Amino acid sequence: MRIDKRCCVLLVALATEVGAFQVIRKTNVLLPPMRNEQAPVSKTTLHYRIPFFGQEEESTPPPEGDSDISIDTTGPTDTVEKTPFRAKITEEEASVVIIGGGVSGLTAAIKAAEGLKKKAGANVLLLESESQLGGRVMSETTADGYVLDKGFAVFIEEYPEAKKLLDYDALKLRPFLPGALVKLKSRNQLVRVADPIRDPADTLNSLLAPVGSLLDKVEVLPLIFNVRSKTISELFEERQTDTETALIERWGFSDDFIEKFFKPFLEGIYLAPLSKQSSRMFSFVFKMFSEGSATLPQGGMVSVSNQLIEKAEKAGVKILVDTKVSKISAGKEEGFIIESAKTKQRFKAPSMIVATDGHVAQRLLSGIPGFENLGELPEQPQLSVGCLYYAFKGSAPVEEPILILNGIGDAAGTKEYPVNNVCFPSVVNDGYAPPGYNLCSVTVLGTAMKLFEGQPKELDAAVRRQLGTWFREERSAILNEWQLKKIYFIPNAQPAQLNGPSPANVNGGRPSNTFRGKELPAGLFVCGDHMATATLNGALESGAGAGQAAGKYAMKKPSPAATAAA
Ligand SMILES: Cc1cc2nc3c(=O)[nH]c(=O)nc-3n(C[C@H](O)[C@H](O)[C@H](O)COP(=O)(O)OP(=O)(O)OC[C@H]3O[C@@H](n4cnc5c(N)ncnc54)[C@H](O)[C@@H]3O)c2cc1C
Repeated sequence: MRIDKRCCVLLVALATEVGAFQVIRKTNVLLPPMRNEQAPVSKTTLHYRIPFFGQEEESTPPPEGDSDISIDTTGPTDTVEKTPFRAKITEEEASVVIIGGGVSGLTAAIKAAEGLKKKAGANVLLLESESQLGGRVMSETTADGYVLDKGFAVFIEEYPEAKKLLDYDALKLRPFLPGALVKLKSRNQLVRVADPIRDPADTLNSLLAPVGSLLDKVEVLPLIFNVRSKTISELFEERQTDTETALIERWGFSDDFIEKFFKPFLEGIYLAPLSKQSSRMFSFVFKMFSEGSATLPQGGMVSVSNQLIEKAEKAGVKILVDTKVSKISAGKEEGFIIESAKTKQRFKAPSMIVATDGHVAQRLLSGIPGFENLGELPEQPQLSVGCLYYAFKGSAPVEEPILILNGIGDAAGTKEYPVNNVCFPSVVNDGYAPPGYNLCSVTVLGTAMKLFEGQPKELDAAVRRQLGTWFREERSAILNEWQLKKIYFIPNAQPAQLNGPSPANVNGGRPSNTFRGKELPAGLFVCGDHMATATLNGALESGAGAGQAAGKYAMKKPSPAATAAA
């Protein structure tokens, strides 16, 4: 097998993130009636759109704006309301009902609607509990024009399912620079870990960088060869172990290289210690990084969700937001009943897809005959992460679109050193901040966030203190002038990859007609990242599979219009 120059991007790609955002702004607009139906069912038919910032009125320069120093705990709901119905219930029928409007649910809706395109009277309905669609792929725009992704995330352009589903040109993806800068304990300067092939000018510096040994840098080549020469399926057939063991025993990297590079880099992706990350997932993600770039879309990560929303609308999917499903059950004869205690609505459908996170799926599915004991089974552990955003006037301390890692292994994750990684999104794309200003994103892993529970001011102070030691020339500005825009805490950011009852490391996803290894009743499907890999790609591929299966199933059933006429 040939190792071309992109191979070496290993390190590079690994550390890449950032991208080209443009500021966007959100407004709620009424969802128009779908082409194939009469009118929106209720006031809750609100659909969330986020036009580009540049299309809105001019931005006003920021730093004088208010800081949000409370911690915004965000993420999919993991409780299921038990409130009984008290008021009049409205009823509606659909061919397929999808519960959850994250990227997996949106994809499932698109695929189901496409599958039913030729069936007269067929319709697809998507129910989302929140007022916004997109689930964990979300961004918001501050009043003064900064785009904040809800938790630092990157779009990996090589994701196979993303390539099939999304229009990359419209997303206007911009790559991170290969490589990373690493903060070491003994150094005032940040140390560069570069790709010697993509960035030959930095080869010497990289080889001499005090991050790992010369041997470590050579060991990277067989790793690249392995992931490049195998298909994704073959990588998922490799013997499964944890990533730490694989890096040491299989690939022969030194503790130093692991501590200073792999640990901060991979923990920033998987939010778990290396010993709890899947070696197969490591190979998969390493392949993705070595064959393409980590990028960010022009409008922030939410533009991925927005593109799916648009596709769903075009395919004729009806979307109801603010519609939290409280109960699902089997119909008297066949099909399913879906209830929302909050909106006093009941939906009936021959086919249903549960596209929520794993915890909610487990609780909802316990309403299905034969699955009642799900509530007593252990839940898949969820991993958490935090993100702080700072706005400031003038140049960024690092004027390259590159990820900056905390390589101070022994202190990472402690209260004194909460930062895992830093980047300046506005350096990659000036749409992230108004002209003349910049935005800094700081990722703090869940373990460190928990040490600051209820103490946002202390967290802010610890982060500033730490960044002041990384960017010494800007120390005074960081401590006194940078404006904290927001702190996010996402308690269930990703399902655990390696251990637990349903680890998210399944190539192609678990069969969508099973849950916890047991076959679901005909017409019922499940999708989401917990059913595949805990990645955007996993959610998309799982959604696509479930949507196709539901569409196929509903094709054989009478459509709601036919049922009503009968
Ligand atoms: C901070 C962060 C960073 C990440 N970074 C990356 C990255 O860099 N690269 C990558 O590939 N992946 C990343 N991920 C993972 C990726 O975003 C997720 O795997 C993916 O978005 C999961 O999508 P989903 O549709 O399966 O679930 P979700 O997005 O959780 O969607 C589920 C939806 O169901 C809704 N819902 C829940 N309960 C109900 C109910 N009772 N009734 C109706 N609706 C309900 C929720 O509101 C939600 O909209 C990141 C995740 C986070 C949180």
